[in-house]
Amino acid sequence: MGQGLKTVKGTRDLLPAETGIWAAVEAVARRVFASYGFGEIRTPVLESTELFVRGVGESTDIVGKEMYTFADKKGRSVTLRPESTAAVARAFIEHGMASWPSPVRLFYLGPQFRYERPQRGRYRQFHQLGAEVLGDEGPTSDAEVLLLLLRFLGELGFRDLEVLLNTVGDAASRQAYGEALRAYLEPYRDRLGEDSRRRLVSNPLRILDTKVPAERELLADAPALGDCLSPAARDHFDELRRLLDRFAIGYCLDDRLVRGLDYYTKTVFEIVSGELGAQNAVCGGGRYDRLISDLGGPEVPGIGFAIGLDRLVDILPQKFRQRAAGGQPVVVAALGEVAPEHAIAAAEALRGAGVAAVAELVSRSVKATLKRADKKGARHVVLIGEEEVEAGVVTWKDLSRGEQRRLAIAVLPAEIGGA
Ligand code: AMP
Repeated sequence: MGQGLKTVKGTRDLLPAETGIWAAVEAVARRVFASYGFGEIRTPVLESTELFVRGVGESTDIVGKEMYTFADKKGRSVTLRPESTAAVARAFIEHGMASWPSPVRLFYLGPQFRYERPQRGRYRQFHQLGAEVLGDEGPTSDAEVLLLLLRFLGELGFRDLEVLLNTVGDAASRQAYGEALRAYLEPYRDRLGEDSRRRLVSNPLRILDTKVPAERELLADAPALGDCLSPAARDHFDELRRLLDRFAIGYCLDDRLVRGLDYYTKTVFEIVSGELGAQNAVCGGGRYDRLISDLGGPEVPGIGFAIGLDRLVDILPQKFRQRAAGGQPVVVAALGEVAPEHAIAAAEALRGAGVAAVAELVSRSVKATLKRADKKGARHVVLIGEEEVEAGVVTWKDLSRGEQRRLAIAVLPAEIGGA
């Protein structure tokens, strides 16, 4: 290998100690999402740049600053996906899903790419787990998506994550609000930075995303979007809130929450955790009633969310971590003069009975074997010394209980299952 070759800035390797936990989280996601009737979609990592420019919006940070965009060998502009909702919408149109039984419920899982300044919880390649309901405009879908999300997080053991909720209204509300915001900010034009001055013309709502303290101060007295809602958007939000109460979903109203993507309409939400530091959002989502038609498809509304898996795993409750790590294979060791094939034979017997096992191929002392097994996080160890070979048994040690017994390998799977 060349000297000093390393991962690209903002990307990282996930090694077995972590991937085991990721796989356990993903397994829960697959089970819970399937229980709500969601099917998996896998879209390409590479899409045409135009998809995100049209879908996510030209004036957003993602499209304006953060995309990995390059020309392929034929000079076509392609982009490593920075998010997946636009890709799911493209697939919906491309595969004529409007003719499928409605609503279409899809989930996805995979890497996303954004050229952001790396810091804790923020990578240039990160991973999202997301779900989309396409084809229903009623608030019941919004409520169901939140139920799914909270059930999933609940099964991972999260208890005190905060749900922030807002509405950005429909097209009419946004238009009215954009004008009100522009009228309010125009006299302060000189106090706005270059980005916000540009947005004042192109897309005033985006200014609400600003991180510049002086601009945030200005915005404190700005008109609220809630005051510009059309009656239809207001009804949608009221009904959603009634449903959330009905299903005992707690949330905080946050009228500054607009989310960094242009396609949202009506409901928007975020889930934040105090444990994450500056990058505190674990999940973001909302309704996008015009995305599919904006991309050239039929008028099909949608709602969905994306969970940042890197951040989720970072704050995963300890209990879930331990349970996920507890699934380490049984360590089988042949001791002293005993040939390693005895260890392989015992491990094969366990695997044949559906128990994961790894045979130690180098003969070791009991002490060294137990130490290594403990380091690997294994719970069960099988030791085979000369006496065991003669008696046709093995010695089984359950490290978590500190117990040991001699028994025939054939009965071990049942014992481990009950342990
Ligand atoms: P968004 O697509 O911006 O709504 O993001 C949804 C979720 O993805 C966020 O709440 C984060 O948890 C996660 N996320 C977004 N950007 C990054 C990043 N650069 N690194 C890690 N996670 C991210």
